[in-house]
Amino acid sequence: MSHHPSEHLLAEFTSGSLNTGAALCVRTHLEQCHDCNRVAEDLNVLGAVMMRDSDQASCSDDLFSRVLDQLGSSAPQAPFSRSAGSKALSSLIPGGIQSVPWKKIAGGVSSYTLPINDGEYSVKLLRVEKGRSVFQHTHTDTELTVLLQGGYSDELGSYTAGDFIECDGSHVHKPVAHRDQDCILLTAVSGKLRFTGAVGRLLNPLVTF
Ligand SMILES: [Zn+2]
Repeated sequence: MSHHPSEHLLAEFTSGSLNTGAALCVRTHLEQCHDCNRVAEDLNVLGAVMMRDSDQASCSDDLFSRVLDQLGSSAPQAPFSRSAGSKALSSLIPGGIQSVPWKKIAGGVSSYTLPINDGEYSVKLLRVEKGRSVFQHTHTDTELTVLLQGGYSDELGSYTAGDFIECDGSHVHKPVAHRDQDCILLTAVSGKLRFTGAVGRLLNPLVTF
């Protein structure tokens, strides 16, 4: 995989400040990505050391060197899985991806709303049939996506299982599923999606994500 959460987002995740929906997306990516797991471990060490030192009267001169000593020294993680059934998701869909009661939205796109109410993110699984597309759209806020199965391409790149994509109002894109298999995504959206094409604009009052 070649697309990952920003270090800023990973830092928010490790500090526990992300809302549930965004944290689920980051955790699902971390289950499959050694590189980001290592960064998250280092951020955890950094946070722990700074927390431990924060209430000492004098800010120790060797704080920085002790942080560096501990970075990268944590135990290796359990083997990673590239299967579509992530551990983070399994408590929300105990029967796995195969059991999801998809609701058809439009064209070859179906969705399932996950039972998460975090007050900010709408969290869904999306299934795009192979070779089909989601209408061109942009966002009023943030859209976090983790690819669970298959792949898609849009104006910004090409993505495969495990990839993590963050979009905002500066991005307009039309994801098209690769032709080899249906594409399944975990997506957390704060704000709203705005369809932008000639046909898509007609959908804005009709289709909600
Ligand atoms: Zn990663």
